Amino acid sequence: MTLTRTTCPYCGVGCGVLAGADGTIQGDPKHPANFGRLCSKGSALGETIDLSGRLLSPKVDGQTTDWDTALDRVARAFSDAIAEHGPDSVAFYVSGQILTEDYYVANKLMKGYIGSANIDTNSRLCMASSVAGHKRAFGTDTVPGTYEDLEEADLIVLVGSNLAWCHPVLHQRIAAAKAARPEMRVINVDPRRTATTDLADVHLRILPDGDAALFNGLLAHLDSTGAVDRAYVDAHVNGFDAALAQAQAEDPTASGLSAEDLAAFYAEWTGTQKVVTVYSQGVNQSSCGTDKVNAILNCHLATGRIGTPGCGPFSVTGQPNAMGGREVGGLANMLANHLDLENADHRACVQTAWDSPTMADHAGLKAVDLFQACADGRIKALWVMSTNPAVSLPDSDGVAAAIAKVPFVAVTDIMENTDTGDLAHVLLPAAGWGEKDGTVTNSERRISRQRAFLPVPGDARPDWKIICDVAARMGWADAFDFETPEAVFAEYVALSKAAEPFARDLDLSVFEGVDYAGLEPTQWPANDRRFFADGAFYHADGKAKMLPVVAPQPRNQGLRLNTGRNRDQWHTMTRTGKAPRLGAHLAEPYLEVHPDDAARAEVTVGDLVRVSSGRGDAILRVLVTDRVAPGQPFAPMHWTRQLTSRSTVNSLVTSTVDPISGQPALKGAGVVIERF
Ligand code: SF4
Repeated sequence: MTLTRTTCPYCGVGCGVLAGADGTIQGDPKHPANFGRLCSKGSALGETIDLSGRLLSPKVDGQTTDWDTALDRVARAFSDAIAEHGPDSVAFYVSGQILTEDYYVANKLMKGYIGSANIDTNSRLCMASSVAGHKRAFGTDTVPGTYEDLEEADLIVLVGSNLAWCHPVLHQRIAAAKAARPEMRVINVDPRRTATTDLADVHLRILPDGDAALFNGLLAHLDSTGAVDRAYVDAHVNGFDAALAQAQAEDPTASGLSAEDLAAFYAEWTGTQKVVTVYSQGVNQSSCGTDKVNAILNCHLATGRIGTPGCGPFSVTGQPNAMGGREVGGLANMLANHLDLENADHRACVQTAWDSPTMADHAGLKAVDLFQACADGRIKALWVMSTNPAVSLPDSDGVAAAIAKVPFVAVTDIMENTDTGDLAHVLLPAAGWGEKDGTVTNSERRISRQRAFLPVPGDARPDWKIICDVAARMGWADAFDFETPEAVFAEYVALSKAAEPFARDLDLSVFEGVDYAGLEPTQWPANDRRFFADGAFYHADGKAKMLPVVAPQPRNQGLRLNTGRNRDQWHTMTRTGKAPRLGAHLAEPYLEVHPDDAARAEVTVGDLVRVSSGRGDAILRVLVTDRVAPGQPFAPMHWTRQLTSRSTVNSLVTSTVDPISGQPALKGAGVVIERF
């Protein structure tokens, strides 16, 4: 069996996979992300490539049809809405699942030809707070670290990250490094005790959103113990005094930790030069996520612990191509190649490169706002690509109702029946993983190829092709006459070259003229250049910026629902739900409840409970465990309305967002539980 070198479609680790049409799946020993390792989800990929449930032909109003009919309908609906109500009356909602080439043409169409920035992505739910935090601190959205840094660190602080389940191969790499070098220390900062905690030397069980107080306290401690690198700060950082003054005004015990635990953590962090602080959704998915990111970055900037091996802050992204999406401007407030939508020079650069008739000149609607605009009638035509917002967004019942109100909805998906697809006027069949070609970028800025090893089934087409076909029907055939994903990638790389005068971080010169078919996994920038090694950042004066962070007051009243992922499922289970061995891990929707809360609700292990929030209710099986703290039950978000015939876990969650990043606070719904 011939095996094709491709990349896993799940998490942001971006593991290399050797895949065969007979379902053979092996870890790619040559891929620098995983060196042959795979996790349970990656290993079971071969069990997910059958065609059961697939959408194999376009559908209009529920009837199977041909591509011309479906594409004409989409193009006409969007053109009519734009003509009658203006460009901001239409919107795309895309996905960290689609490939960089797909993302690129979707952004080009919306921002450069339709003239609106109403294109946002489910990556808004994943790492928007990190993007905003990076831009505030560094002047651009740069993830400075590499996976090797994790192996070289003497102390890894994992904050709000269940790496063992959500980025398992990265977790395996840390475990292997720690086994080889037992003096390496791992501290896990998390309100929950998780599988990741098993690897840690110390578990710091903070209160929800206690991270800001924790890292503010660290900054004050660094100053009071003389651990601030004054020479580094003077040369390379603005904002130190204001950030420190705010940190000194905070009470670190608001984190929920004892003075003894705080002192031990601060002493260890301060006494270790090679520290990597890894953070993920526990930091980002919060109403103060951006501030929490900056509280972490502040400590690394104050000590110059950034830009050197084994050192630095490290945001690990949830999705396989969240990084690639943000690189091509996949968020409603960004332009391609890390250029700024609201900078006239940047806009002019992209407009010239795209030869576009019009450019969006103001930020579009971020995910939660976008669906609110659907609810209140401002959006007249919506195109959802390869994601399931009727399940995955907060207030998901409200989102489903909002989509149902939009006069025209197109959905591109690989599956025929999804909660969102069921609301569509036009369904467009997408080629899936293994059937299409393109690139993805993982959490360490490594661009890898996804390659086809299966025939495209039925009438399915790759996303980039579908988008180009609609653009052509809207009158822009010349600008979207890409024949291959390679041609799209080449234009993206050329745009990076055109953006060089703006001295952004995204340097794709290593990909100029590259052999796309044989492209090896390649990190940007080239030649192992390490970001910030020279102390140069991307604000206008070349310095980084520390931000004063006001820590939120601790909230510990009532039950606060924490949501997240299981080890063996991915998002709304479209693919992983097909593999029986993945379903065997945790087979049904559940709620982890602390024994005190279980006693109060008079429920025990195995009972069914109704979990209600005033927005929706979900029926979940009770697990009683002290892995969760009192008052902080946990439920995974994977199960859909279709699978349970009930509301989804995300229907319980409010639409509260971080005011800076627009990322929803998916981990903080007030709920009540009662026996069902
Ligand atoms: Fe896929 Fe992530 Fe598992 Fe690697 S760690 S095999 S990328 S799900």
